[in-house]
Amino acid sequence: MFQIIDGATRQPIINPVDLVLQSNKTMGLAQDTVLVRRDGSEIEIADSASPIYDWDSKLTGVVVVFHDVSVAKAMSMKMTHLAQHDFLTNLPNRVLLNDRIAQAIASANRYGTQVALLFLDLDNFKHINDSLGHATGDKLLQSVTKRLSSSVRNTDTVSRQGGDEFIILLEDSKTGKTAALTAEKILEELTLPHIIGKCQLHITTSIGISVYPQNGSDAEELLKNADTAMYHAKENGRNNYQFFENEMNTRAVQRLQIEADLRVALEKKQFVLHYQPKINLDNNQITGVECLLRWQHDERGEMLPEQFVAIAEESGLIVPIGRWVLREACKQAKKWLDESKPIIIIAVNISAKEFLHKDFVENVRAILIESQLPSSHLELEITESVLMRDAQSSTAILHQLKQIGIQLTVDDFGTGYSSLSYLQQFPIDVLKIDQSFVHQIASASDEGVIVSAIISMGNSLKLRVIAEGIENKMQLDFLKSRHCIEGQGYFFSPALIATAFAATYLKTNVS
Ligand code: C2E
Ligand code: MG
Ligand code: MG
Repeated sequence: MFQIIDGATRQPIINPVDLVLQSNKTMGLAQDTVLVRRDGSEIEIADSASPIYDWDSKLTGVVVVFHDVSVAKAMSMKMTHLAQHDFLTNLPNRVLLNDRIAQAIASANRYGTQVALLFLDLDNFKHINDSLGHATGDKLLQSVTKRLSSSVRNTDTVSRQGGDEFIILLEDSKTGKTAALTAEKILEELTLPHIIGKCQLHITTSIGISVYPQNGSDAEELLKNADTAMYHAKENGRNNYQFFENEMNTRAVQRLQIEADLRVALEKKQFVLHYQPKINLDNNQITGVECLLRWQHDERGEMLPEQFVAIAEESGLIVPIGRWVLREACKQAKKWLDESKPIIIIAVNISAKEFLHKDFVENVRAILIESQLPSSHLELEITESVLMRDAQSSTAILHQLKQIGIQLTVDDFGTGYSSLSYLQQFPIDVLKIDQSFVHQIASASDEGVIVSAIISMGNSLKLRVIAEGIENKMQLDFLKSRHCIEGQGYFFSPALIATAFAATYLKTNVS
């Protein structure tokens, strides 16, 4: 006789032969039936037992048929696991996470506790992935997974949402304090170097936190709000955490509204350029002009770049807007040239997305041809942090621009952690000292040390140095005493509309 048991309860099951004898019918076996072999080993089986009749329908025996289903069962469990886990890190995926959140909410309701969701997005992960390759990126994600898992209790769930996004579910938290402490621990753990092959990689993360019941009644709402809070952590300079606040949603709505309005702003001709002179500090003569973008919004009035450039950048709208700026600037400069105004160089700010766009150099070339402005009259300002994001690609793009004959300026210099070797390699003409250093000139903490250092560095690299944001005579005198040749700032003039600028600074050359 053979021994069969119920796999879940481990109790013996009634022998199917007896059942068939009693009922005189074919019987299937219960699911999860386990056959215990003579040697004590077990296999999962599926089977059925049927009666055997002789020629005059008398029951003479029972035939039992069974087969080994352990492989099929293991496969089905594996499929279930795959459907609920992330392939790369083996962490629960969104499906399983949603389940766990629902359970956690039910338990929080029962015991009057809270649930916290931590939404993590690695900072600049794309950069690592692009520059070191996907295999390295994958290993980094696995290393991050280990750190995250060891930073939480094993009753908490760490899950991966795909890409470089992770979500951590903290159950039974009494207050938001647990979430804050966990977030702090994660920030600390992740900053330690990750050893991947022979590389030491450094990565940080931004974390948004939402708490049940305050910030949402179900998984969907809690996730959305944690995501919103994460964006605020990013905006706050990355490598930090933020709790969700209701005003964040108001701001998120405003942001969406601005994006929607930006989409039609070009069509509605709502952009204008303002022009701020660059001045030779020794003789007060104008040396050039910087174009600064203004948006004439029909309801909000005049908007400054800081209110919309980041949104334009994120949505990709900066590319067509930037093209408009460049075309407008070149057209205006050509017009002034044709009117025999003194020859000046016109500078246009270029943001990251524009600079790295594959058609950027071609566009610049096309716009110069279209406007017939000689390329020596065009200057492009690119911030140091954009150039340093991918210094090698930047070098290549700068060389192409230089070949066209364009002047190149590193904007906001001093804030982007340039490596000196790259600075030497970039074919640039001008360093523009970031205004924050100019404003610190008088303060005891700095006393212009950084400004002095940048000026002498620029001079030894044979670059022109210009100081932006000069607001008073004291700053001007200090800069002059350090042999800074050029400057820009409210002390001389704010940015003006084209006609006002031309009237003040571009008196027609009569000689
Ligand atoms: P930026 O290129 O560093 O421009 C200098 C900013 O400082 C301008 O602000 C200018 O109006 C302001 N400024 C000038 N002199 C002074 C001063 O003495 N004191 C102070 N406190 N500020 C002064 P704005 O026009 O608001 O532009 C801000 C930033 O927006 C620019 O920084 C630039 O990065 C970006 N931006 C402006 N126009 C464009 C554009 O057409 N395209 C792109 N991609 N970015 C632009
Ligand atoms: Mg600039
Ligand atoms: Mg600047």
